[in-house]
Amino acid sequence: MDQDRVETCIVCGQPKEEGIHIVNEFICLACEAEMVQTRVEDEKYPFFVHRLRQIAVRYHV
Ligand SMILES: [Zn+2]
Repeated sequence: MDQDRVETCIVCGQPKEEGIHIVNEFICLACEAEMVQTRVEDEKYPFFVHRLRQIAVRYHV
């Protein structure tokens, strides 16, 4: 494994080493954890939904 392997998180736009993949997109652990904790009434929620919806549209999920 390449130790220098980093991927760009689609939510925060930062290069991160650890995270999850949704389809072919990468979300870092920090954003994934924040998303899990985000409630529907949270002002950040529409932002996350918007980003995830972009993935869904792109890959026809
Ligand atoms: Zn992130």
